[in-house]
Amino acid sequence: MDLIIKNATVFDGAGGPAAVGADVGVEGGRIKAVGDGLAANGAEIVDAGGLALMPGIIDSHTHYDAQITWDPTLDPSPAHGVTTTIIGNCGFTIAPCQPEDRDLTMRNLTQVEGMSIDALRAGIDWDFESFPEYLDAIERRGVVPNVAAFIGHSALRTYAMKAAATERAATDDELATMEAIVAEAMRAGAIGFATSTAPQHNGDGGIPMPSRLADDRELETLVRAMGVEGKGVFMLTKGDRTDVPYLDALAGKGGRPIMIAALLHNPTNPDGTFADLRAIAKAREAGRELWGQVSCCPLTMDFTLASAYPLESLKAWAPAMKLKGAELSALLADAGFRDAVRAELDQPAGVRLFNGEWHKIAVTEVAKADNGSCEHRTVAELAAEVGADPLDWMLDFALSEDLQTLFTAILLNSDEDAVGRMITDDNASVALSDAGAHLTFFCDAGFGLHLMGHWARDLGVMPIERAVHELTGKPADIFRIPERGRIAPGYWADLLLFDPATVGRGAKRRQFDLPSGAPRLVTDALGVHGVWVNGRRVVGGGDDETAAGYPGRVLRSFLN
Ligand SMILES: [Zn+2]
Repeated sequence: MDLIIKNATVFDGAGGPAAVGADVGVEGGRIKAVGDGLAANGAEIVDAGGLALMPGIIDSHTHYDAQITWDPTLDPSPAHGVTTTIIGNCGFTIAPCQPEDRDLTMRNLTQVEGMSIDALRAGIDWDFESFPEYLDAIERRGVVPNVAAFIGHSALRTYAMKAAATERAATDDELATMEAIVAEAMRAGAIGFATSTAPQHNGDGGIPMPSRLADDRELETLVRAMGVEGKGVFMLTKGDRTDVPYLDALAGKGGRPIMIAALLHNPTNPDGTFADLRAIAKAREAGRELWGQVSCCPLTMDFTLASAYPLESLKAWAPAMKLKGAELSALLADAGFRDAVRAELDQPAGVRLFNGEWHKIAVTEVAKADNGSCEHRTVAELAAEVGADPLDWMLDFALSEDLQTLFTAILLNSDEDAVGRMITDDNASVALSDAGAHLTFFCDAGFGLHLMGHWARDLGVMPIERAVHELTGKPADIFRIPERGRIAPGYWADLLLFDPATVGRGAKRRQFDLPSGAPRLVTDALGVHGVWVNGRRVVGGGDDETAAGYPGRVLRSFLN
């Protein structure tokens, strides 16, 4: 054997109680044996000292599609115990892409992914054109965690329809092109087909993401093309139009699993996600495999009024997305614009990030030292103090600071009683880290550690072995990933050694390390003592960590 991790409390990923004081032996990248007192026989020995060992976390909702071309480590996910990432969620992908469409593809991503266009232009290595070439390029460069990729609807549409992708439905010819590419991608090893119909998903200048323009015929055709060989998961971030019964009618009869995102608890529509989960339960009773993708993290976003993502799902905000600098400031000062935003906020809406809850938006960082006393106070409070309308107060304050004020909005998923019920629902799958996207707004790459530390240990909403299953064996089953997500002989040695007493994620901080020096938010992992990918240590190994190189694999074959 190459490696034996001795004396660990082993959670095997299947959901059962842990085996205390067990040894796990690894050979050739796979788990060779699990048991008591495995003989060393020259293997490297790691004494776990009673710490917990589990399969590495499978993060099924990430957006590393661009980052993976300049950062094969997929930072910060491996540090948070993630050994397999699925990219291409919501269909926000960069392959296929012809050279002349690269800028259009990047501009689509910049708004929705919260990544500066400069970072994307400086960072993306365009050494591919087709989807199979994209997977080959990842393999050639190497990657630290394992990665599986969806064929994504937005890049696909831009490829087939150019600029018209954000304007209209597809013609027969365009649809035939897309259909053939989906089939080609599935043969090359895509994990499924991903799309989005969500109203907050906008590209540069507020144009809708291409997939939002697809009609029913297009969605039906592409989901069918995915499933031709009896494989693939259909992943979708839904909007108003695409409720669960509609999705079930559209795609459920194809027999492939459907992963429905993003089920986040909205206090102004408190039963909304539960109604979705009930509709999913009903479809499952009829024999269809639907899952509701839920998050165990409160959705908080840091933003400035120069790029106010939380407000961008409001129709009245659309003109602001087209403007920058002095023109944007002039619009934000305009009384007519403000009245339109207020009028829309007064109308309740089910699918909307921000619903006028001004006590949930706070000033986080002022630009002018004189305004320091406003920090960490809510807009509701600050506006009430001077008798101003909260929208007027926020916009006037931001304008007085040249739109540099950093605000934090607690948008969704902050009611812990409701979230606790969602993440323990039988029809739900806990994911939605969005790692690699929304980089200036939040960082939930550590969602798995948060599930184990906050929800399982601190709040006790589920036993730790269930949390481990939720992050490992369960997503492996849902996404048909073979030989991963369990600690058992024959499985790949993707492992996470952690301390159950301290596991969790630290506070967020800003870091200016994207290409071109653009900022992103990151969090530190707590209680992680070691991470192995395919038997090689990538975290916690000290100096020889770099010797591990890029042990991850591009996963290309999936079960039926
Ligand atoms: Zn997403």
